[in-house]
Amino acid sequence: MKAIVYYDVGDFRLEDIPVPKIGPKEILVKVKACGICSTDLFRAEYRRAKPGSVLGHEISGEVAEVGSEVKRFNVGDRVAVLHHAPCGACYYCMHGQEPLCEQYRRMNVDPGGFAEYIRVPSELVEKTVIKIPDTMSFEEGTMIEPTACSVRAISKSRIYPGDTVLVIGGGPLGLLNAQVAKAYGATQVIVADHHDFRVELAKKVGVDYAFNANKVNIEEAVKNLTEGRGADLVVVAVASTNAVHQGLRMVRWGGRLCIFGDFRDVPQPNLDIDPKLILRDDITILGSWGCAPYDYYAAFNLIRTGRVKVKDMITHAFPLEHFNEALKVISSRECMRVILKM
Ligand SMILES: [Zn+2]
Ligand SMILES: [Zn+2]
Repeated sequence: MKAIVYYDVGDFRLEDIPVPKIGPKEILVKVKACGICSTDLFRAEYRRAKPGSVLGHEISGEVAEVGSEVKRFNVGDRVAVLHHAPCGACYYCMHGQEPLCEQYRRMNVDPGGFAEYIRVPSELVEKTVIKIPDTMSFEEGTMIEPTACSVRAISKSRIYPGDTVLVIGGGPLGLLNAQVAKAYGATQVIVADHHDFRVELAKKVGVDYAFNANKVNIEEAVKNLTEGRGADLVVVAVASTNAVHQGLRMVRWGGRLCIFGDFRDVPQPNLDIDPKLILRDDITILGSWGCAPYDYYAAFNLIRTGRVKVKDMITHAFPLEHFNEALKVISSRECMRVILKM
């Protein structure tokens, strides 16, 4: 089968590799679509991925083969596959902190979503494969995983009906956080970004106010929309310490700031924060990474019922063979979600 194999920074190659063999409790999925997520690209750019590996984790497809002991799935089922499954029994799982579970971090599909077929291990077959209805396209199916990460972030951030939410960063995850916040009852959602293309798309998917921070004074705009208080919740959906500091200037007393941008690959990020912000201004700073199976099911239902609109967010689709072209589009920033379509 064909797959995109990672070798080094900027070195992805289309290769022929064997179709994985499945065990009795596993399924083989023919990948129909897979999102290209910035975390995949960061892993490649900072050499956190092993040379010879296949990336890709926002996966939907069709069941091509089922193991002899699998009851829940049949050949031909349309599915979305979450690549991580918690054990459900460790200390972290018992506390609802599934992304900290050892099994969760280890578990993955084989070889990865940038391939024609994947083997889905039994732990995932049991917990994190969802049958998607005919009304949901495979393209939409790829958006369940990133939406699930937003569901987790927004529920951890304790939104109240009527809240004003500011999202800094209008990339795919920024717009998903914004839409999920609306679904959770926020009445004003504001997105700040530096690209007109993204600002316009934000409005298209239902964001109330989207601003280009190069042209608009965001701090003033947020104050004007909140009677001078600042936002109840700020989600920082970019890996920038400047953005965190900016967010702290725009969150109200007693509000929350959620760090969502993936800082793992930022060399020596350092936040200099005045403790009085936390003590006297009562600002809660939290973070959110990954998602649990229940976030995945919630995200599936939000997309299925149109509460989160993902169709317009998928701006480009490429076949596996044109993976490097897809990367060029992503680096231009004139896009939102870019996917592979097989
Ligand atoms: Zn992702
Ligand atoms: Zn666990």
